[in-house]
Amino acid sequence: MKKNDNFRITNLGDPKIISPIHLSKTIGDSIFNFVEDTDRILADVKLKNLHSSLEHDVIPDSYERSGPREKIFFKGENTTAAIVTCGGLCPGINNVIRSLVMALHYFYGVKRIVGIPYGYEGLNPEVGHDFIELTPDKVKDIHEFGGTILGSSRGGQDVSVMVDTLVNNKIDILFAIGGDGTLKGANAIGTEILNRGLKIAVTGIPKTIDNDIDIIDKSFGFETSFDVACPIVRDAHNEADGAYNGMAIVKLMGRDSGFIAASTALSMPVVNFVLVPEMDFELEGENGFLENLKKRLNSKKHAVIVVAEGAGQHLFKNDEATTDASGNIQHKDIGILLKEKIKAYFDAIDMKTTIKYIDPSYIIRSAPANANDSLYCNHLAYHAVHGAMAGKTNFVVASVNNRFVYLPIADVTKKRKKINMEGGFWFGALQSTGQPFSMK
Ligand code: ATP
Ligand code: MG
Repeated sequence: MKKNDNFRITNLGDPKIISPIHLSKTIGDSIFNFVEDTDRILADVKLKNLHSSLEHDVIPDSYERSGPREKIFFKGENTTAAIVTCGGLCPGINNVIRSLVMALHYFYGVKRIVGIPYGYEGLNPEVGHDFIELTPDKVKDIHEFGGTILGSSRGGQDVSVMVDTLVNNKIDILFAIGGDGTLKGANAIGTEILNRGLKIAVTGIPKTIDNDIDIIDKSFGFETSFDVACPIVRDAHNEADGAYNGMAIVKLMGRDSGFIAASTALSMPVVNFVLVPEMDFELEGENGFLENLKKRLNSKKHAVIVVAEGAGQHLFKNDEATTDASGNIQHKDIGILLKEKIKAYFDAIDMKTTIKYIDPSYIIRSAPANANDSLYCNHLAYHAVHGAMAGKTNFVVASVNNRFVYLPIADVTKKRKKINMEGGFWFGALQSTGQPFSMK
């Protein structure tokens, strides 16, 4: 059988220290067992693909199962860990910080844990932010709040300077909580560390409200985001329904991937149209959005439209694209454009309508995590700590195929996860809204 080295996790060295966690490898002896590095989870759960691998005599792709290792690399009492949060806010960041601190302190007896303030900026001494000492007492209540107690930022920092800061502060483990940008940054830091022959572990915990990190089942905070969006859409429906030819447009987050908008539409069947960035649609023309909207109003006298912030960007005139400090393209406001175009269209045909435009984006992203996201955040933090203490580096922790695994950062940042316009999830969203398959 041919070897398969895909998705291998790098280790800083041979883990030789006996874990202070009291577990057993023998089933029946204890409540939970240590996990071996060789314990792997199949990447592709389609039976047909497994057959095909075996027919070609190749070991199928798999991911390393996460969890506590019997032998670890860092001795807690000599270890300093650091936590940094970057990019946009997302529900659950404080839950992750809290559980990282608790696990490091109580499971492994880690001596010192510091918070890096305001994202990667906090690793640049020239900016002059002081580290925040993190103790169980300091973090015990923070899961109650949205946002991040460490602060966040965008904008690039010199990788070499950031590694120097880790070295100068005797940091052994860096936990980076953030989206694609943060993870690319973490990988760059981790690679520089390996190139310098240093023994500092770098771990990523994928945070993106848009759920656009590739391979993984979901990123934390994503579920809370459509949980918070659903009652807003319910109330928007009341507004639309309460007026003759009433319409409500709700703009939700989703820069390049429309998972929040589509999930909200699927959870809230009062949504009649959902527009996502992955979708190619036109406003005008006999199959266009406006004509479909008119049909809907003629039959039901109201309509609810959910639009992701990155949808319909092709409808804007080709003026200069602007970017944020991290180089992300800043989208034009599709919600406002829709409202204007809808109004102009119905005014032109003398049809009396009312339009309400609602943009709850910032309320959603700063909300505290719901119960299921809190559960997920805690699991992620515990698994991240086990992996880092075992000396693994340049990895992220996530659930894939409903199992917790370690993945090389480089593998999850190759491309963004997007809605498959020919897949079952999008088909579900179309069935729920009743909108046509194509509006071109
Ligand atoms: P969000 O989900 O909010 O987009 P994000 O992590 O993608 O989160 P960004 O602002 O894009 O947010 O990036 C966070 C940080 O990572 C920024 O400080 C950015 O400069 C840094 N970063 C991004 N890519 C790299 C890279 N290749 N090397 C070093 N740093 C990087
Ligand atoms: Mg990003």
